[in-house]
Amino acid sequence: MNQIQLGQTDLVVSEVGFGAIPIIRLDPQTAARVLRHAYDRGITFFDTANAYRDSEEKIGQALGDVRERIVLATKTQQRGGDGLREHLERSLRMLRTDRIDLYQLHQIAQESDWEAVTAPGGALEEAVRARDAGKIRYLGVTSHSLPMALKVIRTGLFSTVQFPFNFIEEAAADELLPVARQLGMGFIVMKPFGGGAIDNAEAAFKYLRQHQGIVPIPGFESTDQIDEVLSFYRSPNAVSEQDRAVMERYREELGKRFCRRCEYCQPCPQGVMITPAMGYRILVNRMSPQVATEFLKGPMESVPQCTECGLCTQRCPYDLPVPEIIKSHYELYRRHLAEVDSSGPETA
Ligand code: SF4
Ligand code: SF4
Repeated sequence: MNQIQLGQTDLVVSEVGFGAIPIIRLDPQTAARVLRHAYDRGITFFDTANAYRDSEEKIGQALGDVRERIVLATKTQQRGGDGLREHLERSLRMLRTDRIDLYQLHQIAQESDWEAVTAPGGALEEAVRARDAGKIRYLGVTSHSLPMALKVIRTGLFSTVQFPFNFIEEAAADELLPVARQLGMGFIVMKPFGGGAIDNAEAAFKYLRQHQGIVPIPGFESTDQIDEVLSFYRSPNAVSEQDRAVMERYREELGKRFCRRCEYCQPCPQGVMITPAMGYRILVNRMSPQVATEFLKGPMESVPQCTECGLCTQRCPYDLPVPEIIKSHYELYRRHLAEVDSSGPETA
């Protein structure tokens, strides 16, 4: 596995990192096996977050003995200095280390987030203090919002930016990535599979490998997934007309209306289960109306509770017209229910 320099930091990382959300779902032994497999295959960059439940603890347990050979990144959504200090101390304890290589302010989505972290006594002030004290080596930022990410990286306060980037979310390619490069910042790719919307790993990485110096951090939950992704890096990247057609089909199918399942829109005051209801159409395409109607019955039956108050749309960093989409999915769901009822049990 090739190693690359993360921006102008002195952090040298594998060209593919390990995104540690999925290991939340694994028991500690399986998580340790998957993490160790990644390390044994040459992955040296592990990205987690205080918000990812026991993910930091699992990394600390699995990789504590090779701490000096890996680069650890974590993050906090705290906006105040006291909160950041508490999260940082917890991360250090869980990750079994005395310093975090890259500490990121997590999901600076709106102006209010930025105002809060930069206020006197805010998270940024405390993060700088912790860096000066040697508990943090470099500061980074993560965001799903292009305007906020651009604004924040231009301050020059951060060494890296982490942003969604894949062949159906290409906004970063035009401006954010060039600006990050110009500023000498590391560019970490979150959601290389569009948050689960892209189920063609080869196409996903063929697209990303066209962009030099970026570090995707796919979430892994099995050794097979690691082996598959690393196999793409064994030969030079070649994107054929056929590959471009595959990507184009995804773009057409998903359009600009797909949900990344980030859950920033929740909770809904009316109890609508927004995220699964937003994913109904993708699930139907992947499986069948029968499976989708059964599997998403609860979320879909919560949709009529929506009063169109607009709160979720305001909170969504992608400006998705959430009520409109979930209501159209609900209509589709009702049609599918009727079809399934009239066709009887599904046969293989
Ligand atoms: S618009 Fe509907 S789904 Fe969104 S927060 Fe309001 S009630 Fe809930
Ligand atoms: S609707 Fe928007 S905020 Fe809610 S989960 Fe989907 S992408 Fe995230």
